[in-house]
Amino acid sequence: MKILEGKVSIVTGASRGIGEAIALKLAEHGSHVAFTYLNSDEKAKALENKLKDLGVKAKAYKSNASIFSDCETFVNDVLKEFSTVDICVNNAGISKDNLLLRLTPEQWDEVMDINLKSVFNMTKQVIRPMMKAKKGSIINMSSIIGIRGNAGQSSYAASKAGIIGFTKSVAHELGSRNIRCNAIAPGFIETDMTHYLKDGETSKSFLEKIPLGRFGSAEEIANTTLFLASELSSYITGQVISACGGLNI
Ligand code: NAP
Repeated sequence: MKILEGKVSIVTGASRGIGEAIALKLAEHGSHVAFTYLNSDEKAKALENKLKDLGVKAKAYKSNASIFSDCETFVNDVLKEFSTVDICVNNAGISKDNLLLRLTPEQWDEVMDINLKSVFNMTKQVIRPMMKAKKGSIINMSSIIGIRGNAGQSSYAASKAGIIGFTKSVAHELGSRNIRCNAIAPGFIETDMTHYLKDGETSKSFLEKIPLGRFGSAEEIANTTLFLASELSSYITGQVISACGGLNI
C-alpha cells in the first residue's frame, strides 16, 4: 500500500517549480491532489493530466493565494469535489529583491501578501475540515533566507521568518487536535525563481558556501514534504527542516 493512499492534498502554487514536484510526489504516493496557480494555465492543465495519469483524482484551480476570499472559495470547492483535506502544502511564493534603500511600500506589501498572508489565508480554511477529521498535516514553505537573512531580500526574509513564527504557533494551538504544522527551509533550489543565480560569479560564490557543493532540486524538497505529509513524521510538529545542502551550518 502507498503511504498516502486515499489522502487528499492541497498544494498552492503548483504549476511550476517546487510546487509541481510536490504535487507529483504526493500523487505518486497515492494522494489525490487539488492545486492552485496564478497565471500558467497551460502548465496547470498539463500537470492536472500528469497527476490523473498517476491514477489519482486531480484538479487545477486558478486561485490567488494572497486573497482571502479566493482561498475560501477554493477550499469550499475542494471539499465539494474531494470531501476532505488531509494535507495542506502552503508553497506559493515570489521574490522581489531590492535593497532596502530602494524598496517601495508596494513591493513590501506584495511580497508579504503572497508569501505570508497566503499561509494565514489557506491555513485558516483547512483547519476546519482537519479538526472535524481529528487529523491533518500542514506544511509551510519557508526559506533559509528567513533564518539567516540576505542583503537585498529584507521583504522576502521577513515573510519567510513570519512563516516560521506562524508555523510554531499553529503547532501549539492545534497539536491537541492531532493536526501537525511544520515548515521547510529550502536553500538554493533550481527553479525559475533562482534562474538568475545559476551562471557566473554569483553562482560560484553561493556554491562555495554550500557544504554539499551544489544547488538542490525541486524533487529533493518534494521528498522532504512527503516525509512531513506522511505518518513517517507522526511525532514531529512545530519544526523547521532545513533542506539546504548544509548552507545553514
Ligand atoms: P517558482 O518556480 O517561481 O514557482 C512559483 C509558483 O507559485 C508558480 O506555480 C506560481 O504560479 C505560483 N504562484 C505565485 N504567486 C501565486 C499566488 N498569488 N497564488 C497562487 N499561486 C501563486 O518558485 P519556486 O522556486 O518553485 O518556489 C516555491 C516556494 O518555495 C516559494 O514559496 C519560494 O519562496 C520557496 N523557496 C524557493 C527556493 C528556491 O531556491 N527556488 C528557496 C527557498 C524557498 P504561476 O505559474 O501561475 O505564476
